[in-house]
Formats: sequence, structure tokens, C-alpha cells
Amino acid sequence: MAVPRNRHSNARKNTKRAHHAKKPLMLSTCSNCAASCISHRICGACGFYGGKSIIAKEKV
Ligand SMILES: [Zn+2]
Repeated sequence: MAVPRNRHSNARKNTKRAHHAKKPLMLSTCSNCAASCISHRICGACGFYGGKSIIAKEKV
């Protein structure tokens, strides 16, 4: 493991960590069922991704 050569001040450490906050999820609407879903993920409601059915969901 790398060993730090010089000590960083608390201000320098905290300034670096100011950018570490978690970003909100990028939500988009599904092209098949129009439910809100995470972009670049399979739709949780209907199982579609990229215009194709990836996971077959049971129809009620
Ligand atoms: Zn969908």
C-alpha cells in the first residue's frame, strides 16, 4: 500500500471530500410502459430495455 509522503491539513482533506456527495439517480421514463425507471437499466415495471423484452413479466 502507498505511504503518504506529507501530511494533508484537515482543510485540504475536507475540501477534497466536498465533492464526494452522492448524486441523485438519473430517472427517465420507460419507452414501453411510460413508468419512471433508472436510465441504462432494465425497466422494473415491464422488463424492457432498448425496445426489447429482456425479462418476461407475468400478465395479470
Ligand atoms: Zn417499462
